[in-house]
Amino acid sequence: MKDFIFNIPTKIIFGNGKIAQLKEYLDPEIKRVLIVTGKNVGRKSGALDKIVPQLEQKQFFFFDKVEENPTLEQVKKCGELAKEKDVQLVIGLGGGSPMDAAKGCAVLATNPGNMIDYMNGKPLSHEPLPVICVPTTSGTGSEVTPYAIFTDPENQSKGGFSHPGIFPRVSIIDPELTYSMPEDVVNNTGLDVLTHALEAYLSTDTYDLNDLLALHSIEIVLENLEAASKKDKKAMSRMSYASILAGIAITHASTILLHIMAYPLTVFQKVPHGRANAALLPAFLRFMKEKSVVKERVARLEKMFERVGGIKHFINSLNISTALSSYGVDKSQLELFAQKTIIKGDIEITPAEITERDIINIYLSTWS
Ligand code: NAP
Ligand code: FE
Repeated sequence: MKDFIFNIPTKIIFGNGKIAQLKEYLDPEIKRVLIVTGKNVGRKSGALDKIVPQLEQKQFFFFDKVEENPTLEQVKKCGELAKEKDVQLVIGLGGGSPMDAAKGCAVLATNPGNMIDYMNGKPLSHEPLPVICVPTTSGTGSEVTPYAIFTDPENQSKGGFSHPGIFPRVSIIDPELTYSMPEDVVNNTGLDVLTHALEAYLSTDTYDLNDLLALHSIEIVLENLEAASKKDKKAMSRMSYASILAGIAITHASTILLHIMAYPLTVFQKVPHGRANAALLPAFLRFMKEKSVVKERVARLEKMFERVGGIKHFINSLNISTALSSYGVDKSQLELFAQKTIIKGDIEITPAEITERDIINIYLSTWS
């Protein structure tokens, strides 16, 4: 049996209506707070109406411009605001984009320079500010991970920052805040959960205890995503739970080849993150079935997918195409996509020998 370290320092508060208890988790010593959120989500989800009255004893400020797939520039601005207002706590409210921006902001509030340097391995000189996450999608799992993902438009790439200091101190996971998601956001983010769990399960870094979480998360998604997409509240709550399980699974085993192959679809074609992963999932699994050293694991996943008529059918039934041509991708782009992918560290933890040609072939196999 493999050795392992299992560590999730985030205090997880889960349940309908739990956002009303945020105040209980605010340190009385903390006087100045920055709320980092998207343009609309705070209002649409109803979260702000519930959070603001609980901050009456504190000074609070907003950075409410976080865009989907936050850029390095945005995070820099957010960090500058945190410094200028001398805040002591950052609350990330929204989907993965605002939660990740909040984490990046917490880093730049206490550390000099640019996020890209820290993403490239420069050590932090100071602990980041504490972060509280309040997810409104289900989701990226950012509410329980030590990861934050940023877009670098200059280099046309997406990349991650990982540090134990950005584990949220507390995450309030109140499924009611996800009820306002439009159907496409439910589907995209729900399939992000599925790919997190599945990639963690196939990663060379996983281990028995982590497998339990990953497999259970997959089961929950297969059982609930269709109903969640039709706004069944019980199913939406289950998806919030599955997002946590998959987030914990990637904390310990990471995502692998699929996520890094999907990044160029988001950077170049603006395909939403979860949708980009889902579009490539059947092709990725075919490759893993043929070329990986974990064929029995792939077979187990295929068996699980039988109940939903196979993975491609499941994805397509959620109105998501698994043909790259339908996202405006041209075959002439694939070489560049493969070059952007092969240099990422997550290749090392994908249990297969992978060449640039293999990556191009996986993309190409979505055309037929
Ligand atoms: P998102 O980009 O945060 O949000 C997508 C859209 O949904 C936005 O327009 C947002 O509105 C809207 N929205 C969110 N919640 C809503 C709600 N309850 N009601 C109505 N609208 C709502 O989507 P996401 O998929 O959750 O996050 C994607 C990002 O997370 C990517 O950058 C991805 O790389 C990253 N990610 C991070 C991790 C990690 O571990 N840190 C893991 C996987 C992915 P607004 O415009 O108002 O925000
Ligand atoms: Fe993801």
